[in-house]
Amino acid sequence: MSSQPSTWTPAGGAFWAGRWHHPDTTLEVLDPEDGQLVGRVGDCTAADVDEAVRAVAQAVLAGPAWPIWQRREALHRAASLLVEREAAFAELLSREGCKPIRDALREVQRAVETVRLSAEQADRLEGQTLPFGDTPRGENRLGWYTREPVGVVAAITPFNDPLNLVAHKVAPALIGGNGVVLKPAEQTPLVALAFTELLLDAGVPADRVAVLPGRGATVGAALVGHPRVDLVSFTGGYTTGNAIAATAGAKKTVMELGGNGTVVVLPDADVRRAAQAVVDGAFGNAGQNCLSVQRVFVARELVDELVERVVRLTTELVVGSKADDRTDVGPLIDETSAARVESWVDEAVEGGAAVLTGAKREGTYYWPTVLVSVPAGARVLTEEVFGPVVSIEPFDSVDAVVTEVNGLEYGLQAGVFTRDLDAALDVAQRLRVGAVMINDTGDFRIDAMPFGGSKRSGVGREGVPFAVDAMTEPKIIAIHRS
Ligand code: NAD
Repeated sequence: MSSQPSTWTPAGGAFWAGRWHHPDTTLEVLDPEDGQLVGRVGDCTAADVDEAVRAVAQAVLAGPAWPIWQRREALHRAASLLVEREAAFAELLSREGCKPIRDALREVQRAVETVRLSAEQADRLEGQTLPFGDTPRGENRLGWYTREPVGVVAAITPFNDPLNLVAHKVAPALIGGNGVVLKPAEQTPLVALAFTELLLDAGVPADRVAVLPGRGATVGAALVGHPRVDLVSFTGGYTTGNAIAATAGAKKTVMELGGNGTVVVLPDADVRRAAQAVVDGAFGNAGQNCLSVQRVFVARELVDELVERVVRLTTELVVGSKADDRTDVGPLIDETSAARVESWVDEAVEGGAAVLTGAKREGTYYWPTVLVSVPAGARVLTEEVFGPVVSIEPFDSVDAVVTEVNGLEYGLQAGVFTRDLDAALDVAQRLRVGAVMINDTGDFRIDAMPFGGSKRSGVGREGVPFAVDAMTEPKIIAIHRS
C-alpha cells in the first residue's frame, strides 16, 4: 500500500492575528494507512491561543464592519473555490484521514453544499418587528429584533469528516458575523489549514479567522477556558464533551457527540433494501462515523434472510488502499483504535458472540465484521464502537426493542424499515433519539436538518441553519415615541 506525495503544502503551521505562523514545535501528520509523513503543523500553545482569541475578539468588536452582503459573497466565492480545488482537497483529506479517495471526493462535494447553504442563511439574520401594538404597555412604541453575532466562536473538530465538520462550524459562524478560532483534530489538521487558506482567498477578513493545530488538552482546553470566547462548538467523543462542559461552565456550548446507531427491521420490511442500507451505514469510513449503524434489531421471521444478505454484501466490500478507486473500506485512524475495536469484538466472542465475517486485523486495518448472538452488556452493544462492526439481534416484541434502545446511553439517529406507515410512526415517535429515518438507516442526513441527539449524544443542535441560530442571538431595538 503506497501513497502519492501531496500536491498541497500549507503556507504555515497555524494562522492567527491575520498572518501565517511557523511555530518551532510541530506535530507530524501521518497517513494512517502506512505511517508515511504527510506534513507538519504547529503544535500550538496556550499562549498562542490567547493571542489568537484576543485578535479575533478585537476584530469582531472594534474592527471594520463586515456587512451581511459581503459575508454572503465571500462564502459563495469560497464554495466556488472549493469546487475548483476539489481534487487537491480530496487527495489531502484522504491521505491524512481514513477515507478512500472516492469517499473523500464526496466529502469535498458535501462541504461545497455546506458552505453554499451557509451563505444562503444571510436572510435568517433579518429578524422581525415586535408586536408592541398587542398590549397597552406597548403604546407609542415601535421596535424590531435582528440576529447579532455572539462574538468569538471556538470550533473544535474530530478527525472523521475533517473538512465537512470544519465547514459546518466555520461557515455558519462567519455568515452570522462572528470571528472563529478553529482547533482541528490532531490527526487531520492539514485540510483545516487548506480550508483556512481558501477562505482568505475568497475574501474572508484575515483577522476574523484563526486555525490553531495542536493537542486537545493544550489548545482545546485553553480555547474552552478563554474568557473572550463566547461560544464553544464542539464535535467529538462523549468523554471529551464532558471535560469541555466542566471547563466551559456557563459559557454557551453546542456539542455533537457519539451514537450507537440503531436500526429496526419490522416483519413486513423490504429485506433487500434494509440489508444494503445496513452495510452502507455500518462500514462507510470503516465505521468511523457518529451515525454509523451498530445495532440491527430484526423481526425473528426475517433474521435468516437479513443475516445472509448482510454477510454476502459485507464480504463483497473491497478493503484496501485509500488511493485505489475501487476501495470501499480503508484504515482506522491509528493502531490503538484498531486494537481497541479488536479487543471489544474479542470480548463479545468470549461471551458467546459468533463472528459471521471479519474480525481480522492487520495494523490499522480492521475487516468489516458482522456479529450475532452478542451477549447483553458487551461493549459492542452498549458503547460507541467507532469501527466497522455491526451486531444483528432478532426480536419478538417491538416494545422490548423500544425499551432496549431508549435504555442506551446514546440517542443520535435511528432507522426503521417497514412498509406499514402506522408501525413506522409508532416506532419513530417512541424512540428517544434526535431523528428517525423511515426506510433508511440513521446514517442518512442532509446538512440543512437540525442535527444532534438526545441523552449522551449531544447538547443543542447543529445543521447549518440551526448552527447559525446557535451562533447568533436576538438583539432588540425599540423606540418610545414622544
Ligand atoms: P475526540 O473527542 O477525541 O476529539 C475531538 C476534538 O476534541 C479534537 O480536536 C481533540 O483534540 C479535541 N480535544 C480533546 N481533548 C480536549 C479537551 N480537553 N478540551 C478541548 N478539546 C479537546 O474525538 P475524535 O476521536 O476525534 O472523534 C470521534 C468522536 O467524535 C466519536 O465519538 C464520534 O461519534 C464523534 N463525532 C460526532 C459527530 C456528531 O455530529 N455527533 C460527528 C463526528 C464525530
